[in-house]
Amino acid sequence: MTEVKVQNGIRREFYELFINGEKVESSDGGTNDIINPATGEVIAKVAMATGEDAERAVMAARDAFENSKWKIYPASKRAKILNRIASIMRERFKELVELEVLNSGKSINAATGQINQAVEDFEYYAGAVCNHGGQTNDVPGQFHNYTEKEPVGVCAQIVPWNYPLMMAAWKVAPALAAGCTVVLKPASLTPLTALILGEICQEAGVPDGVINILPGSGSRVGDYLVEHPEVDKVAFTGSTDTGKDIMSKASRTLKRLTLELGGKSPALIFGDAELENAVASSVYGIYNNTGQSCDARSRIYVEDRIYDKFVEQFVEKTKQMKMGDPMSKETHMGSLIDKSQLESVEAYIETARQEGATIAYGGNRLSIEGYEGGFWLEPTIITDVTEDMTVVRDEIFGPVVVISRFSDEKEAVSLANNTIYGLASSIYTEDTRKAKRVADKIRAGIVMINCPFSAFPGTPFGGYKQSGFGRELSAETLDLYSETKSIMSYFGRKPINPFML
Ligand code: NAD
Repeated sequence: MTEVKVQNGIRREFYELFINGEKVESSDGGTNDIINPATGEVIAKVAMATGEDAERAVMAARDAFENSKWKIYPASKRAKILNRIASIMRERFKELVELEVLNSGKSINAATGQINQAVEDFEYYAGAVCNHGGQTNDVPGQFHNYTEKEPVGVCAQIVPWNYPLMMAAWKVAPALAAGCTVVLKPASLTPLTALILGEICQEAGVPDGVINILPGSGSRVGDYLVEHPEVDKVAFTGSTDTGKDIMSKASRTLKRLTLELGGKSPALIFGDAELENAVASSVYGIYNNTGQSCDARSRIYVEDRIYDKFVEQFVEKTKQMKMGDPMSKETHMGSLIDKSQLESVEAYIETARQEGATIAYGGNRLSIEGYEGGFWLEPTIITDVTEDMTVVRDEIFGPVVVISRFSDEKEAVSLANNTIYGLASSIYTEDTRKAKRVADKIRAGIVMINCPFSAFPGTPFGGYKQSGFGRELSAETLDLYSETKSIMSYFGRKPINPFML
């Protein structure tokens, strides 16, 4: 077993569940091997939760919601603890980054940006919650009405493997800020940094039971949480198919629901775009995080008159991408998450060939010295596609981009919207009026003009159509972790006696 090397001397090979402020083994003693996807080596063992463990975690979260002081603390006190979480994360930053790289195969540059954002999420919500509250409303005569925001209750939070700690922070930070209690289920492939977050919350002063962390399978633990009558809200990030399943199960107890699902996001490159920026940004837009991003700009549409030049430069830049040691700052792209994801992406490339597309670059497995057991794939460019092809329609979730063309603005908008998804999009043009017109017509939760990013603490992140609903990362997220209570008082002198009794 490879040693997990972390800062401040901690070396750990076994990670336990975190329930009610304690690290515990699973009720049936079950464990999972945690793999470094860059090498295929086992780096740790983790306890795998059972239904019994999920029951204990939900009841701990329920008890903490009803009986601890968490929800009745003033927002400023919760904010102070959130800021303390952020500062402990900064102290343990190097350890968190290295653990994320080891557990996900992503490059250290990608992990550094993501862990930094996870820290900023706690800082952001520490500030935002102090401005989150009710309002007074205009009501007739002798009445007075005000609203209060109350925490929604026990939240089950289910996250995927592509951004393990960042996705956890997107969910845990607003839930804690709002006064909720949490049972977090990380993806079974990537639970390590989320488990460290539990320790950090405890050290920062979050009471026992307010946060519980359960590595476990989706069908066993995820399902159990979604169906549990003591869970008030489910916040889920993952695939659209799982999201549909969760929505149907959560409906039985009418749980509050936030769904951040899949995407097939477009980048529109107009003829007047600043080409160097459009090419380099779009290369990042697909290959960042090895293409395993819900907001990956995986469909690029280029105006006819610059199409050939764009593709030529895109291929050139793709050739310069460095794959290899994920811990090296020189590395642009790490490995895929596991064998089944590698095989799934390869199958999409094969389908593209069979359906008549051209693999303009890449398409093959990579063998890298010292990393032969890992799950590596070349960055891949597919051209000569039509809108009905599988690779244009499906979310591939790997470093695979399709590049196609359009002739005018109307066609560009229509192609951008020709998808069941509606998460992110990018527009490249120097014409600001055109940028505004097109942005208004795109049916997606996020439109970026002349840049490839999507997510900043404070700006809403979420989808239209089958990319889900609800927004994360922003002030409005606090509303999704709150109920609104309306309180009305009567101050009149005359008794209220509508029945004239
Ligand atoms: P997934 O849907 O397979 O799993 C996500 C999580 O749900 C995991 O923790 C899994 O164990 C759990 N799960 C699986 N089945 C479940 C069930 N029946 N009930 C409850 N929980 C269950 O997704 P994945 O493969 O881990 O992640 C990739 C997907 O996530 C992609 O589709 C990607 O677009 C999406 N994603 C979306 C966003 C966003 O913000 N919109 C962000 C990141 C990833």
